[in-house]
Amino acid sequence: MNKDELKRFVSSLLDERKDELITNGEALLRMPELSYREYKTSAFVCDFFQKTGLPFRKDIAITGVRAELDTGKDGPVIAIMGELDAIIVPNHPFADPSTGAAHACGHHAALNAMLGCAAVLSHPEVKKHLSGRISFMATPSEECQDQPYIAGLIKEKKIQFFSGKSEMIAENEFDDIQIAMMLHAGNSNFTVSGFNGFVMKRLIFKGKSAHAGAYPEQGVNAVSMMRSAMALIDAQRDTFRDEDHIRIHGYIPEGGQAVNVVPDQAVFTVQVRGASPQAIRDASDKVDRCVHGTAIAFGGKATVENIFGFMPLVNYPEFDEIHIRNITGIVAPGEPFTRGVYRPASTDMGDVSMLMPSLHGYFRGFAGTAHTDGFLVTDPVQAYVDSAKILALNAIDLLFGDAGCGKDIGALPPMMGKDLYLKEMRAFSSSVEYP
Ligand SMILES: [Zn+2]
Ligand SMILES: [Zn+2]
Repeated sequence: MNKDELKRFVSSLLDERKDELITNGEALLRMPELSYREYKTSAFVCDFFQKTGLPFRKDIAITGVRAELDTGKDGPVIAIMGELDAIIVPNHPFADPSTGAAHACGHHAALNAMLGCAAVLSHPEVKKHLSGRISFMATPSEECQDQPYIAGLIKEKKIQFFSGKSEMIAENEFDDIQIAMMLHAGNSNFTVSGFNGFVMKRLIFKGKSAHAGAYPEQGVNAVSMMRSAMALIDAQRDTFRDEDHIRIHGYIPEGGQAVNVVPDQAVFTVQVRGASPQAIRDASDKVDRCVHGTAIAFGGKATVENIFGFMPLVNYPEFDEIHIRNITGIVAPGEPFTRGVYRPASTDMGDVSMLMPSLHGYFRGFAGTAHTDGFLVTDPVQAYVDSAKILALNAIDLLFGDAGCGKDIGALPPMMGKDLYLKEMRAFSSSVEYP
């Protein structure tokens, strides 16, 4: 078979498995689980690899799974990933009533696509035309839900990082990988030009309590400190460059306890997002200076706790082209395709994209907006079958014959090495006290 014939063969294999793919996708939809607790989903993935006859390891970064498809021929090693976790959207029609977890980001469909892709590429008639090795990875905790729970796991030294992909990088699971790819559910087929990264911060303002009516002059009002810091942060906004896509947003988990007591503590949790590690650092430093400034102005104290972060996603246009040709030429010919959408949100695929040529494309089949109760599969064939086709066809392009295309993509320079990555990530979880 030549490459086009192989692509047609793989597409027909997935069409034959349509019912199974839809059944599996809907089963995953009905077992939404939160970060680092994706036990049922992880067991489902293991069971699938077992049936497919692929050797695998489990319990990586708690719930992660990794299966290997070795063609026995030299070539690049690629990772094809699917995310295990759901997000807390209690009103979603498929939410777990006990946890509020729901697949409102469609990870079940992208995970299912990875499994479908693993099944067809394992077919002996397909495998014999490929070179190199494929690692099928099910990754935990992309949404990083229930942060106190994850912080507990870190405290117990069970993991080091909030995000599953960061953790798998730290646990050396990407050391042998040269190219990484995954898809994400959406309303249409499109590619991204990038994603913001972020650092999550807790700004803790410490004042002094006093009787709010009788002796307010004896207190230091932590809420006033926080309000002033917020005004200072807002005043920085015109210093942010458009191309850095800075977004700073947050909420107030603590702002005093009683109306007649001058509050001695207030907490503002913020997420500082930006398009490059430098831009995030710059904006994050400005936030820190605003906090420091209010501590001085009020004679109080303040602490900035950097909790965790994701790297921005960089995109590799040469890799995108392969993916775009498979969608516009084979999977969805004649349908509109949008390329290069910038996403000011964040994904831990950004972390992987810093280290190696990566692809994070979107597939259609869903209606509504991600992270809301309206994000639902409207076309099961698009969501569960076409998504698997896209991954499999991309993999064929990379690894067909002597994997020449994969070697070219794998040779694209990454943004940073693992050591620098881990150093940057640790800076995303440091604390500073002011003054
Ligand atoms: Zn999400
Ligand atoms: Zn997602």
